[in-house]
This record gives sequence, structure tokens and C-alpha cells, in this order.
Amino acid sequence: MKQSELFTKTRKTAPKDEVAKNAQLLIRAGYIHKEMAGVYAYLPLGLRVFEKIVNIIREEMNANGGQEVTLTALQSPSVWKTSGRWDDLAIDVWFKTALKDGAELGLGVTHEEPLTALMSEYVSSYKDLPKYVYQFQTKFRNELRAKSGIMRTREFVMKDLYSFSTDEKQFRDFYEKCAKAYMKIFARVGLGDKTFRTFASGGSFSKFSDEFQTVCEAGEDTIYVHRAKKIAVNKEVYRDDVLKELGLSKEELTEEKAVEVGNIFPLGTRFSEPLNLKFKDDKGAEHPVVMGSYGIGPARLMGTIVEVLSDDKGIVWPKEVSPFSAHLVSITGGNPDVIAEAERYYELLKENGVDVLYDDRDARAGEKFADSELIGIPTRLVVSEKTIAAGGIECIDRGSGKSTFVNESDILSQFKK
Ligand code: ATP
Ligand code: MG
Repeated sequence: MKQSELFTKTRKTAPKDEVAKNAQLLIRAGYIHKEMAGVYAYLPLGLRVFEKIVNIIREEMNANGGQEVTLTALQSPSVWKTSGRWDDLAIDVWFKTALKDGAELGLGVTHEEPLTALMSEYVSSYKDLPKYVYQFQTKFRNELRAKSGIMRTREFVMKDLYSFSTDEKQFRDFYEKCAKAYMKIFARVGLGDKTFRTFASGGSFSKFSDEFQTVCEAGEDTIYVHRAKKIAVNKEVYRDDVLKELGLSKEELTEEKAVEVGNIFPLGTRFSEPLNLKFKDDKGAEHPVVMGSYGIGPARLMGTIVEVLSDDKGIVWPKEVSPFSAHLVSITGGNPDVIAEAERYYELLKENGVDVLYDDRDARAGEKFADSELIGIPTRLVVSEKTIAAGGIECIDRGSGKSTFVNESDILSQFKK
């Protein structure tokens, strides 16, 4: 894509009321637009990153037998009343609205209830289980605080998967598989070294759950990390009895600020019982389905990547989530030969399947380089009179700043997977 055609532009400053580093950088670089506190729109560059994260999650969910659906944002109170979660005391972040005739509606905060009710139309026998159903869907939560940029918003997409099993063992098998898939996802998006499976409280469903926490100064949680074992304990369950159960001692743990990027929960029969999701075993006896829920927020993940990996010049995207693989920058000084040569490289890269952003703008070198650093594509390729004379292209790594000269014949091999 040519940068001159991109409708967004970089900005020197972020909105005054924007306090989070992730949103400041993403707004300045033209990835997102702030609609209001806790509500952001995704622009062409931002949507590319977001979709790449979504696709990584989708691949890993499909690899474990996940089946994708889209449930609805508009929710009728009935299933929520049946489970006892329509009340604002049970869920304190509901956005509620009404039909013209006055009937109440809610905007989905999560989807255990509607999916459990839906599954009861299809599941009747042990032969129908296990099943794993997931979606990427907008959740609405009336969060009290929305000061963390895209890491905590009032409207956000969640990948939520729900598992449906016959018994505890079948449930656990999948739960552990999903925990592994989560670690793979966090590694692929570039947060592998900093993300820990974290023992946490189970809220209202079960005694404990597993969170996936990324160590980050901007995080709202406090965790105690065991680096060698690659696990952590959330402060909310940091007690002697829990540590003993996990075989951890306080001396081995370090306290860190962290962001909860994912969360997996045993649900037991908390929803299948009230919503009547049952199956018959091989002897014809009826049992409630054993469930689990598995969430990841792709936008929170995107914000966390920016928080953790950016530097004083701007964003540094890991390869797998970068909006483009290469940022081709021409420094022409108005020389038509350089323009033609840069165009030629652009076509060459495109023809060979390299996803490239081409800064073809008529602007000063300093401005182009500063924008390129702010936008954060991992590899910058510079074409100038100097590089043409030397018969190649200058290749700069965004993370390390390291510059290498690459002959034309070697350029494409740089982008082979
Ligand atoms: P938190 O404790 O941070 O409020 P939560 O425990 O309520 O989050 P879950 O219901 O477990 O969140 O949601 C699953 C995942 O969805 C979280 O791990 C996170 O990645 C993401 N998520 C939750 N709330 C938000 C939000 N307000 N904005 C963006 N992503 C969110
Ligand atoms: Mg959670």
C-alpha cells in the first residue's frame, strides 16, 4: 500500500485526556481513533494488527477442535434471570436498554447463558460431547475506570470459547490443552517471555481459575512470579495455603505489575443446571453438562504489546502482528531516477507476496524516518541515490536499529517465512 493513499496521518501529539501510553502511541501513529473515554475505533493500520492477532487466536482455537460462531450482542433478560445474573448486583457492568414497547434488553457482557441455552437444542447424548464453541464478539461493559487505553474499554471484542464435556476428566483434558494453546498464542504475538500462567481466584464459579498475566508496568494486577517454573500467583490468592498447594515458597517469587491478557475458568454445572443443558449417558441416565470458559481480549493484547515493546521513538511490532512486513521508504530529493527505482522495488516486493507499506510521500528524510519509527514496522527498506549507486537497499531493523546493506538479489530472501 502507498502511504500517500492512506487516509490517516501521523500526529505529533495525542489527545490531552489520553493518559495511557498504548493509546497515545496508537493514536499518534494513526492506528486507532478515540471516540470517547473507553471507546476506540480501529483505522486501517490498527485493523490490520487487530485482525492478525484475531487470526493467530483463531488458528490455535481451530487446532484444538474449536467451532466458530457469532452470538448476539442484544440479550433478552430471560436466560440471565434463569441463571440469576440479570441483577446488577450479580453483574455490576451491565449496559441495559429497552425496546420501544418497554421490554428490557441487555448488551452482552459475556455469553455463558445464551450459548448454554442454544447448546441444549443440539446436545442430548454423551455421543454429542465434548464440543468446543467460540466466537469473536463485541462485549459491552460499563467499566468504572477506563484509563488504560485499549487495554480496558467499555466496548471490546473478546474471543470467548466454551467447552461442553461429560465429566470432570474430559473437561480437564481440554482445559490443559487450551492452557497450552494460550501460551502458544502469547508467544506468537511476541509476549511469550513476559507472560505467565497465573493461579487466580475463580470468582463466583469455582474456587480457582487460571489467568494469563503479562508482566507490564501499566498493569492493574499484582502477581508473584516463579520465572524458572514459568508460573505465577495472583495477589488475590497469595496465601500460605495456596503456595503450599502449588509447592512454591515466597523466597522464590518476585512481585510484578501485570496485565491479565487471558483467563480460563472451570464452570462446572453452574450454567448447565439452571439452563437445562443435559445429556444421557450410555445407560440412559441424565446428567448436567460440565462446562468451562476461556477468554482472550485481542485489543487488550494489542495494547499490551505496545506497552511492553515500544521505545522512546514509537511502536516496535513483533513480525507476526505487524500491519506490514516491510516499510519501504524513498529518499528522493526530487530525483526522478530514485522515484522510479523505489517504485520498481515496491512492485518487486508486492509481486513476491511481501506485504509492504511504501512511503512515497514527498517529504523530508527526517520526517519519513520519524514516522517510520513511530509506526513500528519491523523492517525498514530505504532507497536513495546512495543505495542505488551501491546496487541495493538499506535495511534497518526497527527493534535494534541495526542497519545492513542488502544487494538486490538478496532482498526477497529477507522476507521468506
Ligand atoms: P478484568 O479483571 O481486567 O476486568 P475480567 O476478569 O473481567 O477482566 P474476563 O471476563 O475474564 O475479564 O474476560 C476475558 C478477557 O477479556 C480478559 O482476560 C481480557 O483479555 C479481556 N477483557 C476483559 N475486560 C476487558 C475490557 N474492558 N477491555 C478490553 N479487554 C477486556
Ligand atoms: Mg478475568
